[in-house]
Amino acid sequence: MHELAIATSIVDIVQAELAKRSLTRATEVKVVVGELSNVVPEALEFCWEVATQETPAAGSKLVIETRPVTAECRACGHRFAVENYSFLCPACGSGDTQQTGGNELYIEHLLAE
Ligand SMILES: [Zn+2]
Repeated sequence: MHELAIATSIVDIVQAELAKRSLTRATEVKVVVGELSNVVPEALEFCWEVATQETPAAGSKLVIETRPVTAECRACGHRFAVENYSFLCPACGSGDTQQTGGNELYIEHLLAE
């Protein structure tokens, strides 16, 4: 389960941030997860408790925001949400589109004390 590895890296980042700011305990961590990032939010949530054990993030709340896959049409400039992996522009039918979102995987904020 690679979500455990991801949860562990998030905890590492959180710990480094806490140390930098002389804080001792994380209370909430919010991560943004794109639909194409290959992270299953439920699995990440499940791993969070294990990954944070005996760390300054133990007992903290993990908030996960999922972002849809989005694309932009190079032909007409239309921006759209990609459904069922169809990257065809719904406005003009062009296949010349570029993915603009959906691969996100980052910490958006961290609450600590
Ligand atoms: Zn278009």
